[in-house]
Amino acid sequence: MPADLADDTARHDEAALRDDTAPRDRTAGHDGGAVLHSDVEELLDALDADRGREALVHRDRRITAGELVDAVHRLAHVLDDRVEPGRVVALLAGNTPEAVVARLAVTLLGAGITQPHEGLSAAATARIVADVEAPLVLADADAAPTAEPVLALVDGVPVLWLGAHDGGTDLLEAAATASAAPVRGRARPHDVEQIRHTGGTTGHPKGITYTFDHHRRGAEMRRRAGGFGAGGTGGRLLVATPVAHVGGAMADRALADGGTVVLQDVFEPGAFLAAIERERITHTFLLPPLIYRLLDHPDLDRTDLSSLRSLVYGGAPANPRRIAEALRRIGPVFTQFYGQTEAGGISVLTPEEHRDPALLGPVGRPIPTTTIAIRDPEGHDVAPGTRGELWVRTGMEMDGYWKQPELSAATVVDGWVRTGDVARQDAGGYLHLLDRVKDMIVVVGGHVYTSELEDLLMEHPAVRQAAVFGVPDEDGTETVHAAVVTDGSGPAVDELTGLVADRAGAMYVPATVEFVERIPLTGIGKTDKKRLRAELAGHPR
Ligand code: AMP
Repeated sequence: MPADLADDTARHDEAALRDDTAPRDRTAGHDGGAVLHSDVEELLDALDADRGREALVHRDRRITAGELVDAVHRLAHVLDDRVEPGRVVALLAGNTPEAVVARLAVTLLGAGITQPHEGLSAAATARIVADVEAPLVLADADAAPTAEPVLALVDGVPVLWLGAHDGGTDLLEAAATASAAPVRGRARPHDVEQIRHTGGTTGHPKGITYTFDHHRRGAEMRRRAGGFGAGGTGGRLLVATPVAHVGGAMADRALADGGTVVLQDVFEPGAFLAAIERERITHTFLLPPLIYRLLDHPDLDRTDLSSLRSLVYGGAPANPRRIAEALRRIGPVFTQFYGQTEAGGISVLTPEEHRDPALLGPVGRPIPTTTIAIRDPEGHDVAPGTRGELWVRTGMEMDGYWKQPELSAATVVDGWVRTGDVARQDAGGYLHLLDRVKDMIVVVGGHVYTSELEDLLMEHPAVRQAAVFGVPDEDGTETVHAAVVTDGSGPAVDELTGLVADRAGAMYVPATVEFVERIPLTGIGKTDKKRLRAELAGHPR
């Protein structure tokens, strides 16, 4: 163990022993500010109350709740004095137990964390590290191939490794001999707990900031709105999407509610199906394009999925025909969730509602704690049933974009979040999403809504997946392009364009239709429209 860490560890052991015997004071902070009992401490308390439970499974490792709590406290001891409330530590890691432990240890100490998802480029990740002014980077040795190019671009920020790496400081080695005595939480309500960077499908990733107080409000909202599919006591949640996105929030919920989390490094359909059968998975979350990959995988029909009780999907438009196929082949376990990192939870389509084929188009009805309005560009409500931008009040909105006050003020207006989604609400109260305002394609004569055109193309029986994107023309309008994945039966381009012309009119007909093996996805699992534009239309990314 490096000398400085050894010293630190001894010092913190003493402090921890003192803490252990002191009454737990949740109101007086170390610097006089109010300290709250954070969601992290609640999670650790729940794990500690049931130490024998299997908490995390990753590759061939099985970690009990007790081992997880101890690992968090040990790491918090060695990180103490290196992180302080109000600062944001950058974590370069994938879906590993070390990433979970590191996030919990840093936030227990009252500091914030940002874990850019691994699908971002090294340059974008390095910009994030610089932008949050990270006093420290924690890099998982397991993620060295993606972390090293980032670190080469980051200047002057100390790096500590989780695991052995090329002579660097190995925090895990130091933590192994540190005390597991509980570290008292230092979270203050208005300090940043987490910054999540949006998928990066358009422009520079934006830092969506949550304070510790946000998470406390979240717990209250969940009590009022009901939980969504993380699986309580005895539940086994499979997380194969980045823990830096929805998967991580669901993992926390499962761990706090008495469940087990099975982590997979990346989504690979064969491995995902095998894990459901082997680990008797009860709950999981996927984005729709990943569900299509399951449906198109040869192992699906020979996998035992009888343990699966809930598959929550969302994060991107879902095609009704493919969801109907998923219900038939996977079972009546689907819940659609529509939400946004900026806004929080918006609507849900329940498993019961999935029984009605007519309800597979909308994204469900607003959850009880969310109020919606559909407005024109000037912010006035449109007539009932008409399209407009969706504004929502969730009580769970972000605490702003990191260091972008103007953008924050333009996005959260009097407690209403402008979602940037084009929607309409039908007479039954169901929300229909048409597109992101930014993705809508401006053509001569009007707008083409990309999700609508994708669904139209997918009405052709041979089309398994479609992605539609616009490419700017010199006259200020755009040209419509489509990429499709087929079942190999080779439909002609005119069959597809003819179908579009018949159903939606000439304005919707794409200028090009490319047959591709696979639609490129972002690290989170959404259609990567920038990449499509670059690869298929020769447009710079
Ligand atoms: P993110 O903040 O990465 O979770 O992305 C949120 C955006 O993803 C929303 O504003 C929608 O455009 C889209 N989205 C999320 N859930 C759904 C859903 N169930 N159906 C269609 N689009 C969705």
